[in-house]
Amino acid sequence: MQRFSFERAKTARDAAISAQSDNCRFIAGGTNLIDYMKLGVERPEALIDINSLAQGDPGTIRANPEELRLGALVRMADAEAHPEIRRSYPVIVDALRLAASPQIRAMASLGGNVLQRTRCEYLRERSWPCNRRDPGSGCAAFNGINREHAILGVSDACIAAYPGDLAQALIVLDATVETMSRGGGRIIAFADLHRPPGNSPEIETILDPGELITFFSVPAGPHTRRSRFVKIRDRASYQFAQASTAVALDLDGDIVRDVRIALGGVATVPWRARQSEALLRGRKLDEAAARDAAECAFADAETRDRNGFKLTLGRQTVMRALLETVTMEIGDG
Ligand code: SF4
Repeated sequence: MQRFSFERAKTARDAAISAQSDNCRFIAGGTNLIDYMKLGVERPEALIDINSLAQGDPGTIRANPEELRLGALVRMADAEAHPEIRRSYPVIVDALRLAASPQIRAMASLGGNVLQRTRCEYLRERSWPCNRRDPGSGCAAFNGINREHAILGVSDACIAAYPGDLAQALIVLDATVETMSRGGGRIIAFADLHRPPGNSPEIETILDPGELITFFSVPAGPHTRRSRFVKIRDRASYQFAQASTAVALDLDGDIVRDVRIALGGVATVPWRARQSEALLRGRKLDEAAARDAAECAFADAETRDRNGFKLTLGRQTVMRALLETVTMEIGDG
């Protein structure tokens, strides 16, 4: 691990002002960053500890009839246990509950969670070429062990899958992200936060160097309570998704008034299946409709040697998530 400077920030503004170098990193739970620093994949000059921000607004959860407001320093376990999130935003609870391990969920912040980096083994092992780690060096996964890799949103430079779960819940609920930087703050759509790899996979988000996420806002609506996240993985605990689907559904009787669908484990970024959504609106959501939506969601998929199974698995996951969301019980409270 290379030498780095370390300081603690008391406020988001202080943290942004302290971020003088393009090669500084903010640290909260550190559950992803420290791993990558040990591997030599992350080599920051400066670490800015933002845990003190949890004492203020970025450590709070607020819910009102218009929105759910999540501080970026809230720990995953605290959001999962929050009564209003459990009542009105079950897709968020599902996504948090199925992520990582209880120990990691107790440490990891919501902001850090959505920014976690891909688990591609070639990124983590520095002896292999990797365009994301060393731009222009090539992609060892193309003809290597690519079973875990993405089939949607891939490019000639990178096929790594986005690893998180919470992001699928936030994108399906049309969340926004509030940030702070030296130049001030801004609000961006969560759907715009992550960049598909294109020709520059080393640039993973639209955040500027030194720009800190402070809050997520989730608009309330009739779709949030009938929402669900289904995650399929190689083992039942402490494992990343091979395929996942988040669904939020607003029904008029048994007809779809509105539906939102997001995919994980199969795409390079948190992925909205907007064409599948359009196909379902105004239709009864039965098995045939769910199958049509699932087929449509993967119409542009590109598989490699070892990840072709994700096409079938991904479709089945979409179908299961849709059909379980139609029949899920919604409490009165
Ligand atoms: Fe690197 Fe992406 Fe290729 Fe993995 S898939 S080796 S992260 S360029």
